[in-house]
Amino acid sequence: MADLSPDAVSRPAPHGPSHAAPGPAPRSGWRARWLTVAALGAPGLCFIVLGYEGRRVAQLLTLLLPLLLWLRMPLRTPVGIMVRRWLVTLGILMFVLDGAARTYLLSSYQAAPDSTLVLSAMANTNLRESLEYAAQSWRGLALFGLVLAAVAAWVWQVSGRLEQAPAAGPGRKRSLMEYAVLVLIGILLLLSAAAYANKPWRRLHPVLFWPHWVESTEKLRKGWANQDAVRNEALERAQAAAPVVLREGPSTVVLVLTDSINRDNFSLYGYGRKTTPGLQQHQRQLGAQMQVLRNAWSVDAATLPAIGNLFAFGMPEADDAQHLLAMARVAGYKVWWISNHDDVAIEQQHARHADVLQMINREPGRSSMSLDGEMLDEFNTALQAPAQRKFIVVHMQGAHPHYSLRFPKGHNPFDDADDAVDAAMSQQGRPVWVRELRQNYDAALLYHDSVVSELLRLSREAAKPQAYTGWMYLSDHGQEVGHVGNHVGHSPGTAAGYRIPAIVWQSHTAAPIPADFAQRPFRADWAAWTLADLLGVQWHGLQAQRNVLHADYRWQAPHMPQLGTQINSFTD
Ligand SMILES: [Zn+2]
Repeated sequence: MADLSPDAVSRPAPHGPSHAAPGPAPRSGWRARWLTVAALGAPGLCFIVLGYEGRRVAQLLTLLLPLLLWLRMPLRTPVGIMVRRWLVTLGILMFVLDGAARTYLLSSYQAAPDSTLVLSAMANTNLRESLEYAAQSWRGLALFGLVLAAVAAWVWQVSGRLEQAPAAGPGRKRSLMEYAVLVLIGILLLLSAAAYANKPWRRLHPVLFWPHWVESTEKLRKGWANQDAVRNEALERAQAAAPVVLREGPSTVVLVLTDSINRDNFSLYGYGRKTTPGLQQHQRQLGAQMQVLRNAWSVDAATLPAIGNLFAFGMPEADDAQHLLAMARVAGYKVWWISNHDDVAIEQQHARHADVLQMINREPGRSSMSLDGEMLDEFNTALQAPAQRKFIVVHMQGAHPHYSLRFPKGHNPFDDADDAVDAAMSQQGRPVWVRELRQNYDAALLYHDSVVSELLRLSREAAKPQAYTGWMYLSDHGQEVGHVGNHVGHSPGTAAGYRIPAIVWQSHTAAPIPADFAQRPFRADWAAWTLADLLGVQWHGLQAQRNVLHADYRWQAPHMPQLGTQINSFTD
C-alpha cells in the first residue's frame, strides 16, 4: 500500500525548491498539498453528482479515490512522475465524461445508458445516423468539448504544481490533526479496496462500464435478427394451428403478471399482517366470481425461465412450441403489453409479439425506482380502446428486490412492527436484518395490493353486461424472506421460491366453475392453457387436462429436483 505519511513525501523531490533547500517545511505546506489533491477531485465529484443519484454517488467517489491518493505517493523518477500525471489527468477526464454522458441521457431521455431504451437505440443506430445526430447537436458537443479541454488543462497544471511543491522536512513532529487526517485516509482506502473487490460495484468504474456497454450493444444487435426470426416462426406456427375464438361478442382478457410474490405473505391467503385489504374487498364483493387458487406454484425460481415457460404453454423446448400472444393475435385479438420492467430479453422474446408495446420503465436493474402504479393510466387507455377483442398483459415489478424501492417512501406500516409475525420470526431465530427485510417486503406487498386492486377495479368498471371480461393474476415465481432460513431473495433451493398467488375473475362463465376449483393445485407453466380458455380460443392440439378451469383437469406434479423432498404434496 502507498506510504502516505507526511514523512514519505519529505524525501528529496527530484526537482523543485525542496531539492535545493531541504529542511523543515511549514505544516501549512502539508495541509495545502492535501487540499490540492481534494481540489483535483472536484471536477470528478461535480460530474458524478450530476450523473448519478443517491448511494451511487458515494460508490463512484470510492472508485475515484485511489487515483487522487496516488498523487501523494512518493515517486522518484521523472518518467514515473510524468506517467502518473498523464494517467491522473486522463482518469479524472474519464469520470467527467462518464458523468456528462449520464447527465445528458437522463435529462434528454430519463434513461440510464444501460437501459433497454438506450441500448436498443445504440444497437439500432448506424454510422450515418450517428453522424447526423452529432451534426444536429454540434453546439452542445462543441461547448462540452471546451469544458472538457478546460478541465484537462486545469488538472494537468495543478497536478504538475503538486509534484513540484516543497516537501515537508524530515523528523518533523505530526500534529493531532495530521494523525486524524491519516486515519481518515486509511478508512477511505479500506472502503475503496472494498469497492474494487466487489464486482457489481467495480463494474460502475467508467473504464470497465463503457467497454462492457459497447459489448452489450453489440450482443443485442447480433441477437435481434435472430429474435425477429424466432417471433416470425412462432407466428407462422400459430397460423398453422389456425386458432379461432368460439365465444360470441366482444371480449377483454387481462393477464396481470407480477414478480417475486410469495402467497404466504398475502393476508388473502391467511398471512398475519394485513397486506391485501384491496383484494380481500374485491373477494367479498365478487364471491365465487373471483377464485383464489390456494395451491398455486411456479416451477421456476427466476423471471426469464418462468415467463418463457408460461407463454410457451409449459413446453418452450418443443419443436412445435406455440406462443400464447401469437396464438391470441392470429385468433383475432389485439394484444397490449404494458410493462414496468426494463428487460431486453423479455421485450424481445415476448413483449414484441404485442400490437401495442408500452414500456414505462427506463432504469434497468435492481435499483430501478419506477412504481407499478405508474402503469395504471396506460392500462385504462387499453381498456377504453375500441377493439372488439382485447388481450392486455400487464407486467409488474411486484416485490422484486430491492423491496424498499417497491413502495412509496414512508409507506411502511410494518416498520419496526411488534406483532405476531415478528414475534414468530424472532422465535425461529431470524436475525434483525431478516425481520427488517420482511417488514419491507410486506410493505411492498401492501402497495402491490393497492395497484392490483385498482387494475381489477378498472377492469370491473369497464366490463359491459353484453361483453365478456376474463382476468388472471399470478406471480412469475416466489420469494424467500426468512420463511425457511436466514435467506432473503430469489430462492431456487426452498419452497418459498415457488409459492405464488394466482387469482381468476370472470365477468360471467359459460360453464359452472368446478366446486373444487380453488383447492386444485395449479402450476404457472400451464397458465397459458387457462388463459386460452379465458380468451375463448380453440385449436387442434388444445390440452384441456392442463386447464385448471376445465372439468377434465389432471394435475401432474412438476419435476423439481433442486428441492429434494421439501415438497411432499402440492396442496396445503
Ligand atoms: Zn422474477
